[in-house]
Amino acid sequence: MKTIGIRTRVVRAGLSPAAQGESLSAGVTFAGTYHVAGEPSSSPYTYGRYHNPTWTHFERALGDLEGGVALSFASGMAAVAAVLGSILRAGDVMVMPSDSYYTARLLAEGFFAEMGIQVRKARTAGSAQAEHLDGAKLLWLETPTNPGLDVCDIVALVEAAHQRHVLVAVDNTTPTMLGQCPLELGADFSVASDTKALTGHADLILGHVAIRDPALAEKLRSWRTQMGAVPGPMEVWLAHRSLATLEMRLERQCRNALVIAEHLSTCSHVSGLRYPGLPDDPAHRVAARQMQFFGPVVSFVLADQTCAERFLRACKLIIEATSFGSVYTTAERRARWGGDTIPEGFIRLSVGCEDDQDLVADLSQALDSAH
Ligand code: PLP
Repeated sequence: MKTIGIRTRVVRAGLSPAAQGESLSAGVTFAGTYHVAGEPSSSPYTYGRYHNPTWTHFERALGDLEGGVALSFASGMAAVAAVLGSILRAGDVMVMPSDSYYTARLLAEGFFAEMGIQVRKARTAGSAQAEHLDGAKLLWLETPTNPGLDVCDIVALVEAAHQRHVLVAVDNTTPTMLGQCPLELGADFSVASDTKALTGHADLILGHVAIRDPALAEKLRSWRTQMGAVPGPMEVWLAHRSLATLEMRLERQCRNALVIAEHLSTCSHVSGLRYPGLPDDPAHRVAARQMQFFGPVVSFVLADQTCAERFLRACKLIIEATSFGSVYTTAERRARWGGDTIPEGFIRLSVGCEDDQDLVADLSQALDSAH
């Protein structure tokens, strides 16, 4: 039989082996503690902060798709913190994108800088971080960035980093591992907020880290156990259930995102349009080399705050909400949160699975009434 393709693997990832009378997929296990008589190492499960069978199934699935060992965390930020916390010590240097997800920068430049970590920052566009690697311990990448959608060249940056013995972590939240596979591109860590497209239903908070090196995997596991950044079994079970439809959702979302980006490119009141899937986007050339899907997020700029707010109020189908990656199309004026260097009229649009022509019609009427 020929090698099983990714579309099949994602549907089947982490399914239990066939056993007479058992359900196809394992149910959720709620457990704080387990029967453990005598020597604890004689039992696969002992205490709920250490392990859980529902995590085991889900992590097996994630690991298969990422090409490494995967660990599930309580949130995307818990996953980010686990990588930083298990690697960086006082005196170490970390290189970060100046335009990465705001809270990741806040964490690095706040708590971690206070603990003696030096944070150097450079733009994602043009892979500018390559200039700052000398003497660093960790290179943090996020590509495409949230919310600016700039892209860096993962392979080139990994090569430059590894020549200097710098570890590389990629925040892969926007594309998911089906859209772009950091470990295959040579990175040491693939990190994601599974709150977004991976689970895709806007109903839970979760994150994960995938890694090839077993020693680093053990460090991350110890971090999770000791910090208690553990995911709830119900969230993990829901996430595993959602994973089976990831490829279908992503395929539809990215197809819709391209249709919408193409439409927006013809709208006279729209400027600063970004979607890595658009052939004339500044990120397209690099994105096309390393991405299989360009992601569900499109960004653009309206004249000012008032205009952006009028646009959002006028949307009938598109929901005004933060976050991204779900089956529901959402949009927000991103500058309302602060922390990013973006214009007041910047709109981050997360494209869902609805009918593309309905979305285009809603966008058109909302843009008309905003001007
Ligand atoms: N990384 C990126 C790129 C994000 O956009 C987010 C959340 O928006 C996170 C990490 C943090 O994820 P969570 O909200 O699940 O903690």
